[in-house]
Parts: sequence; C-alpha cells; structure tokens
Amino acid sequence: MTKGKLFVISAPSGCGKGTILSEVLKNNKNLFFSVSATTRSPRDGETEGVNYYYITEEEFKREIDNGGMLEYTQYCGHYYGTPKKKVIDKLEQGIDVILEIETIGAMQVKKAMNEAILIFILPPSVPELRRRLNKRGTEKPDVIEKRISEAVDEIKRSYNYDYVMMNDELEVSIKDLEAILTASKLTIDNNKNMIGEVLENA
Ligand code: 5GP
Repeated sequence: MTKGKLFVISAPSGCGKGTILSEVLKNNKNLFFSVSATTRSPRDGETEGVNYYYITEEEFKREIDNGGMLEYTQYCGHYYGTPKKKVIDKLEQGIDVILEIETIGAMQVKKAMNEAILIFILPPSVPELRRRLNKRGTEKPDVIEKRISEAVDEIKRSYNYDYVMMNDELEVSIKDLEAILTASKLTIDNNKNMIGEVLENA
C-alpha cells in the first residue's frame, strides 16, 4: 500500500492559518489533522483533544523521555509537540497527515522524515500581523510583541520550506493550499505505480 503523505504547515501566530486549515480540512475529509500537545493553557473557545492536548510540563517531559514525540519545541515559554504514534499509524494506513507546527519543529520533522512536505504561510506584512494579533485580543501586549519577534525569526526560516504562500485573501489562500496538496500528490515519485499499471496493458 502507498504510504500517506506528511504535510507540515507553519505560519506566524495570528497569520490566519487556523481558518485556512479548517476550511481545507472541511473540503478534504481524507486528511488527518494531528492534534499537538502543549503546556500552555487553553484559550477561550478551545477544546481539549480538538485544538490541543493540554498537559503539564511534567507529563510533556515524560513523553519526550519515552520517545513519544515526533518533534517538540519551546515557544514563548511553553512546550509544544507532535505525538508520534498516531501520525506514524495514519501514514502507514495510507492516510495523509497535516501537522500545524512552528519552524524549529518543522526542521526536526524534515530531518527525521525527508519526504515530508513543508509549507509556509506568510502574513501580508509584519505591521498587518501586529494588527491581526491586536484584533484577536487573546494575548497581552507584551506577549504580542514576543510573538511578533518570533514571527520575524520564523519568516527567516521559511527559505528552508518546499512551498510558500501568502495569506492575504482567505478564498485565494484556501485554493493555494489545496493546489499545493494536490500537486504534491501528483509527482512522478508518487505515481510510478500508476504509470506501470497503464504500461502493463499497453
Ligand atoms: P498557539 O499558542 O498560537 O496555538 O501556537 C503557537 C505556535 O506553536 C504556533 O506557531 C503553532 O504552529 C506552534 N505549534 C503548535 N503545535 C505545535 C507542535 O506540536 N510542535 C511545534 N513545534 N509547534 C507547534
């Protein structure tokens, strides 16, 4: 059986990637979204097991020691990581998986699984990102400034990605992300079997 594809999506906090992703996931029922673990507290409206698994730092460190994290990092003072088992199981079952993680973790994934496809979503500009974070109002001003400074570092790392797109208009971004997912599945490397099957009946 052909293994599933692993897609890694990164974008600075407040870039609107959550909205793009939820629309793309709605339209592509065969994509599995990997829910991360974090030590940060849930925001209003977030749900355990849907947005994140909210665990303590002690639990997180135990998972790391047990080799249960595919990747992990510390971001703005909290741990974030991808539970490994579910991702590997889905890929083995031929199901495509999406990770929504920051850039340090994405680099770890690429190192461990070179076939992973890395997609970076840019904000239209840094001032626009600040405006969106202020509008969202889920973080205090000092945390927003910390996230902006992280965002600049993250944008610098986007040179290492396979695809880059800008989230300016939501409808366009949804189409762009779907186009990337589709194109990634249609490469020669993925479809040698299909060519072989056609040739067999020539
Ligand atoms: P937030 O606190 O805004 O939900 O997420 C902060 C940052 O952590 C975002 O850039 C998000 O992509 C990233 N993140 C979420 N889950 C993971 C994860 O499992 N691993 C890594 N490395 N980053 C993550």
